[in-house]
Amino acid sequence: MRLFKILKSTFFKHSLKTFCLFGAFGSICANAANIQESQWEQGQTLLTFFEKNRIPLKVYYDLAPEDKELADEIISGSTFYALYEDSTLLQALIPINENSQLHIFKEKDSYGMRAIPVAYFTEERTIALSVENSLYNDIVKLTGDKFLANDFIQAHKGSVDFRREVRKNDKLAIIYERKYRLGKNFGSPNIKASILNVGKRHQYVVRHEDGQFYDLKGNNLSKYLLTVPLHYKRISSHFSMGRKHPILGYKRPHLGTDYAAPRHTPIRASGKGRVIFAGTKGGYGKTVIIQHENGYKTLYAHMQKIDRKIRAGVSVAQGKQIGTVGSTGLSTGPHLHFGLYKNGNAVNPIKHLKIAHSKLKGKEKEEFLMLAKNYQQALNTALTQGIDNQTPFRKIQNGYIVYLNSEDKNLN
Ligand SMILES: [Zn+2]
Repeated sequence: MRLFKILKSTFFKHSLKTFCLFGAFGSICANAANIQESQWEQGQTLLTFFEKNRIPLKVYYDLAPEDKELADEIISGSTFYALYEDSTLLQALIPINENSQLHIFKEKDSYGMRAIPVAYFTEERTIALSVENSLYNDIVKLTGDKFLANDFIQAHKGSVDFRREVRKNDKLAIIYERKYRLGKNFGSPNIKASILNVGKRHQYVVRHEDGQFYDLKGNNLSKYLLTVPLHYKRISSHFSMGRKHPILGYKRPHLGTDYAAPRHTPIRASGKGRVIFAGTKGGYGKTVIIQHENGYKTLYAHMQKIDRKIRAGVSVAQGKQIGTVGSTGLSTGPHLHFGLYKNGNAVNPIKHLKIAHSKLKGKEKEEFLMLAKNYQQALNTALTQGIDNQTPFRKIQNGYIVYLNSEDKNLN
């Protein structure tokens, strides 16, 4: 089987948006094969992509229901890669979230599709800076990363009034993880810990393993959290980046949490926001999507009924009923498929739901305090010594590229 992999770019040259493979992979060029990098256009579906590339539509209709659900997860605007020989599509890689992508491949006279992990690498970074003009702009200027600036403000919002209190020469430091794919920032950053010095106040924030931010004493700082959208019987399927398929044996992601509940159980908005979609959405059946603040979106699928007033453009309060549980679309029984997206990427909803306690206790607290202490030291060092802020992203720009290797059997 042919596989995609990530390799250093010394083997390649690229012109415009077409990549051509050289050196050890000369045979591919000789066959007039080329990889095209394109954006997934708004409104394009997997079905129209199949049509465009003359893939028999039977291939689409024969896909497993779960794969059709994943097809609805393709993010418009995201970059995908397609490999052609003459004008025949040999393979395509289409991202569906930060960790997974659909791999479409030619197989004899037909095509196959499966979800495979995205090849990326993660790096821990530390930055430190003095506020020059606006804290947001300063972070973006240094890192080119708007998501990082947003998340930093989010993490500190509960304890600092950004408009009134932050002044020139106030200092900050951030320790965070960044994913890179093909030499570019990829997905959302993950802030591990940060400090903001406003005048004489030192405000530390540390992320605990539950995904939420705490102060150094273990008090939860999250002000805005989502609530469970229904009274459910059980979770019938958890969020997964790649769960093992019982029959097919390969990993297929599940980009949401499935709550089993009787038909007609009310479904409530998980947070305050604005409805951006209410209608039928492929394998998800009757679906509502709500846009929340801070780049969050929630998706409610397989609904029996969408309430009459719930339409695109309507604002909803947290807890507002939006419809009822059903089994529409590709669904095996009544349940709510609940999806959560951050900056357009599916994330695990459970990690962002309101928890009963706002303070850590016992052993969990002890472990957290140790972790927090280490971060406190690292942040202080960053602030006093400064950081080589020049290194971040530019060096590895274009350093990695997707290529096709017909011999290599090591997938990601
Ligand atoms: Zn589901």
